[in-house]
Amino acid sequence: MKKIKIVGAGLAGCELALNFADANWQVELYEMKPHKYSEAHKIPTFAELVCSNSLKSQLPTTGSGLLKAEMRHLGVKLLPIAEECSVPAGNALAVDRDRFSQEVTAKITCHPNITIINEEYKKIDDDLTVIASGPLSSDNIIDALSPYLPETSLYFFDAIAPIVEKDSINFDRAFYKSRYDKGDADYINCPFTKEEYYAFVDALNDAEKHQAKEFENKYFSDIKFKFYENCTPIEELARRGKETLRFGVLRPVGLEDPITDRRPYAVLQLRIENTSHNAYNLVGCQTMLKYGEQKRVFRLIPGLENANFLRYGSIHRNTYLNSPQVLNPDLSLKNKANVYIAGQLSGVEGYVESIYIGLLLFHIIHNNLKSLPNVTISGQLWSHLITEQKNFQPMNANFGLLPPLDIRDKKKKKEAYAERALQAIQASFGLNPNGAVEL
Ligand SMILES: Cc1cc2nc3c(=O)[nH]c(=O)nc-3n(C[C@H](O)[C@H](O)[C@H](O)COP(=O)(O)OP(=O)(O)OC[C@H]3O[C@@H](n4cnc5c(N)ncnc54)[C@H](O)[C@@H]3O)c2cc1C
Repeated sequence: MKKIKIVGAGLAGCELALNFADANWQVELYEMKPHKYSEAHKIPTFAELVCSNSLKSQLPTTGSGLLKAEMRHLGVKLLPIAEECSVPAGNALAVDRDRFSQEVTAKITCHPNITIINEEYKKIDDDLTVIASGPLSSDNIIDALSPYLPETSLYFFDAIAPIVEKDSINFDRAFYKSRYDKGDADYINCPFTKEEYYAFVDALNDAEKHQAKEFENKYFSDIKFKFYENCTPIEELARRGKETLRFGVLRPVGLEDPITDRRPYAVLQLRIENTSHNAYNLVGCQTMLKYGEQKRVFRLIPGLENANFLRYGSIHRNTYLNSPQVLNPDLSLKNKANVYIAGQLSGVEGYVESIYIGLLLFHIIHNNLKSLPNVTISGQLWSHLITEQKNFQPMNANFGLLPPLDIRDKKKKKEAYAERALQAIQASFGLNPNGAVEL
């Protein structure tokens, strides 16, 4: 029986472990929880979603939805589990995070081919190993990897959004509605008047923030305080201009207030966090404000005057490698070819993308996969990790990655991207739930 070590029972690590184990490999899965936790991990079980509970859109006419559809052709293991644990979120796949984590952990714990080792992995040896220790990899694993990495690995920060208790929301102001009334009214909306909106923007600008230097990291030479655009803290967006929020995360279009029958000046949306529907996430409110300030400032949002905060937002470290520089095309380290890198550490961004790199690496190692069609998101994400580029940044699933199609109508263009990609991946793989690919 072939053997493999997997470091990290997060999203990529669990996808890898289940695939290899089902393919009859003997898997040793290392996880440092519950002995040691990163700044963002809180629960002892595996595949923990540390921030939003949404795995984004299911529609193949979106980047994330198309990647999911492609992953099903490749035999993904975690998405069907996520679907079993889903909570209503329109066209998005949102999950009850505790249930999802418990279900994945149960599948792994019961698998006869997986041995779980509850230890922090600290030393690189000559065994076949995949490092999937994530964006919050422990210092010791980064130390262990350092001798094999040149000095140019990158580094950045993210911020997470607060969660409030539903029963503390004031429904004399807030209302249920989905944008343009599309799908079920799964979101709670908090409508701002003009005065309330500018008072909120001013408060964000004046509020006390955490200092970035607390989180400086000693490992990488290129240390910059930079935000990944789709996780930019709300106070940073407010700082960019008084209208920025109103045309971005607080845009009111399609969210007419049923109480006044008018479009509010701005709207904050709240998304369901759990199956009991009693916890709601403030969409787009990732923040690095101090906790006391969060309570004060977010309570200025109409409807949240007495909000009870179940979780505050926070700032956190996010580590990834300059993959084109340090990885071979099969995602092994150029300087240590028995060691492979998966998940967010490899330079993708997002839950689904991290799962995907776990799935991809299984096919590379087990099925000797050499390439994927270039008209697919999966093929292009892989290519992103191994193509030399000046300013390498983590990448998420999006249509901008695909070779362009000359179609004017936006809707038809997206449909054509999806059709072309799915035909190509189907021609290469077919739909095989066992992940056994014929090449
Ligand atoms: C705070 C934060 C918020 C994020 N929010 C979102 C979001 O809302 N939506 C989104 O799509 N993406 C988000 N991301 C990005 C990313 O998609 C997730 O972090 C994702 O979980 C990454 O998957 P992974 O498998 O690479 O790592 P993880 O899921 O983090 O798994 C890594 C595992 O390795 C373990 N580990 C670490 N070091 C060691 C060691 N030395 N030995 C043994 N075990 C170790 C950890 O305990 C953890 O269980 C966020 C990232 C961060 C840091």
